[in-house]
Amino acid sequence: MKKTKVLFAYCKELKRSISIDEARVEYFFRKKEERKRFTFSCSDRNCGVLISGVNYHVMAEDGIKFIAAHYRSPHEHKSCCEWVQFTAEVEQAQSYDESDEDFNEKRARLKLKDYVNYFDPLIEDSEKIETDTETTVVSSTESVARNDGQNNSKGNSRWRHYTRTNQLQRLIDTWQEAKEKLSYDEYISLKLHVTNHGKVPFYKYITRINNGVSNQYNGVVFGGGYLKQRYGSGFLFYFFDKIDDKNVHLYVSKDIMNKGRFKHYINEILNTKNVRYFRLFLLNPSMSEREDSNGRITINLEISNLRQLAIYYELKTNTSAESGTA
Ligand SMILES: [Zn+2]
Repeated sequence: MKKTKVLFAYCKELKRSISIDEARVEYFFRKKEERKRFTFSCSDRNCGVLISGVNYHVMAEDGIKFIAAHYRSPHEHKSCCEWVQFTAEVEQAQSYDESDEDFNEKRARLKLKDYVNYFDPLIEDSEKIETDTETTVVSSTESVARNDGQNNSKGNSRWRHYTRTNQLQRLIDTWQEAKEKLSYDEYISLKLHVTNHGKVPFYKYITRINNGVSNQYNGVVFGGGYLKQRYGSGFLFYFFDKIDDKNVHLYVSKDIMNKGRFKHYINEILNTKNVRYFRLFLLNPSMSEREDSNGRITINLEISNLRQLAIYYELKTNTSAESGTA
């Protein structure tokens, strides 16, 4: 049986089609004792076969332990199903008007579970959307319904409502998998269409904090570090990396933590015991410097919305995540 790639599935409990990333947010949004695995079926209602959600119910670890959450199809889809068409299209041989570069990128992308190729870092809009939808049923965390008027140039624009996202975590999950799974050349070949920036090499959109706390595309900076302190649900984080010998900190207030559905997932990762380090990804954080009483300067990073944050962890060897779910 040919493997059909599925990026969105219909969730029976939520009564809408969601990405696996949204499934994770919604799963962790529920109280621990009330959590039950969701039931998924094909998002194409003319097909509707049963779909399995894999790994969305566990917190994403860092590095080699990272396993991308994804949808799996244990049953064959109907031949008219949109995902059968999607899979056929992305697996197509090189077409006469497709450059080697584009084709190689397409091949590399096929090795990944997700197929994110368009990122829409709309922080402000999202904030509004999110607070409004705490209780209503809209596609609150994914931009499925967003109309894409301007970028229908060519290729897979037909699938853009599935391959485009405004979810940092979904983007970074793809990056994590790409780093682990692809060869260096394949990884370097990946590009991302970013709103207001056009096509950007993936590796230039997500850069290490020790190369600078701001990214040239207002993109993502990341680094490892440890949790210094909790302030209620808020927290202070110290990065291992220094910049010009200055320490780099991130403070997230409880007000920011309490906004949005994503906080439960983040909170649970931060509460995990036996963690060797956390790895934080920040989308375009703001920055200020502060001098302490000893004359040492610290760089403080700030975010205004949890959508700017993705977090992973690595456990100390031979331990297991105590706050994880079975
Ligand atoms: Zn189907």
